[in-house]
Amino acid sequence: MSYTKDVLELVGKRNPAEPEFHQAVKEVLSTLKPVMDRHPEYMEARILERLVEPERAVIFRVPWMDDNGTPQVNRGFRVEFNSAIGPYKGGLRFHPNVSLSIMKFLAFEQVFKNALTTLPLGGGKGGSDFDPKGKSDAEVMRFCQSFMTELSRHIGPDTDVPAGDIGVGRREIGFLFGQYKRLRNEFTGVLTGKGLDWGGSLIRPEATGYGSVYFAQNVFQTRDQSLEGKVCTISGSGNVAQYTAEKLIELGAKCVSFSDSNGTAYDAAGIDEEKLAYVMELKNVRRGRIREYAEKFPGAEYREGARPWGIKCECAFPSATENEISAEDARELVKNGCVLVCEGANMPSTPEAVEQFLANGILFALGKAANAGGVAVSGLEMAQNAQHVTWTREEVDQRLRDIMKSIHARASETAEEYGQPGNYVVGSNVAAFIKVADAMMDQGLV
Ligand code: NDP
Repeated sequence: MSYTKDVLELVGKRNPAEPEFHQAVKEVLSTLKPVMDRHPEYMEARILERLVEPERAVIFRVPWMDDNGTPQVNRGFRVEFNSAIGPYKGGLRFHPNVSLSIMKFLAFEQVFKNALTTLPLGGGKGGSDFDPKGKSDAEVMRFCQSFMTELSRHIGPDTDVPAGDIGVGRREIGFLFGQYKRLRNEFTGVLTGKGLDWGGSLIRPEATGYGSVYFAQNVFQTRDQSLEGKVCTISGSGNVAQYTAEKLIELGAKCVSFSDSNGTAYDAAGIDEEKLAYVMELKNVRRGRIREYAEKFPGAEYREGARPWGIKCECAFPSATENEISAEDARELVKNGCVLVCEGANMPSTPEAVEQFLANGILFALGKAANAGGVAVSGLEMAQNAQHVTWTREEVDQRLRDIMKSIHARASETAEEYGQPGNYVVGSNVAAFIKVADAMMDQGLV
């Protein structure tokens, strides 16, 4: 067996019942054999065995009181996966399906994504199986305060800097930051995604969605094409989905869907700025369901329980969650003439779906590269906090564009160098791996 296969087998044995983590590791390792063949020193240093083992994983009890005075208990996690190139960095997810496997998959992916951003950021991820849906603001606050009471022992502006993810937006970051500040009596950039008046960066809320669209622009430029006039489906209706839509609309593309975990709203006439403003209010303020979109706008239809991949489109922007595009969905996208899939979410395509995309010549921008804009601007927020300065919207946006361009260039060049031109999966994984592995080699056996 080859070195990469041996390590994959080890990961399976050592981490039973962690399917998402296995999937994420397999996706990376399956692209690294040519690197190992060229660089035997990595195998001699057992670099893969070290890379697949988190530096630290913390699991903790989060007790809190609900509005009825009943004690509740959730489970909290922080996986500090790799700090070879910088402090651990990665979001917090609050969702009922959060498990150690999901935390480890996200933290592992984050190591590679962060390496691509050009910034000095290690990889981590955390969260809880707490479900913010249907909870009052007071309950969310009490939960966040209890969660941070434990998490604060493990994080710090030069150690580990969490941000938001599914279920963790501005409101939650506010409660978490407030509690950290109270416990430590210090005002530091320990979290990113903060409010603009208390250390946040302009463009951070927009960054993942905008960055994903900038990446798609770069991909199309290699084909002398643009996004203008292209019909685009988007899944999700949260942070990433909303700002993906905002940038696509600005660039003249036609967005036709949003979704949530209950179903899909399909608007063949196209989602314009006014309709997008409605979705932002619906999701961010009223915390309602996407079904209401179809009730509000005549001509739009609601498909209960469906994902958007059956809708005819030229570009698909999966921006909800992992494994949301099955092999069958992928075949449907190919059949309907889709030419580009750009992953705003983390690992939204199943391995079988990715196979379909690559076999059918779809331009496939994988999440590690395409959605790195969020963490990149988080890195810029850290830089501003450290210098006690704030950059303008234009300045941050320009840096984000430059970073996405450089990620695209790096992935393309590396894919070419390894004999797989146009394969962003190979290009992104290999480029990121070499950067992290070389830093680990330099720093000795730690
Ligand atoms: P939000 O919580 O703002 O929105 C998540 C959206 O996805 C909601 O519409 C939600 O619907 C939907 N969703 C969540 N879980 C499921 C599910 N199991 N099935 C179907 N739909 C689901 O999260 P974000 O927009 O921040 O994150 C979306 C994706 O982007 C995630 O994969 C995240 O890891 C990734 N990402 C986010 C970054 C960021 O900066 N925020 C950075 C990089 C990646 P519902 O309301 O019904 O739950």
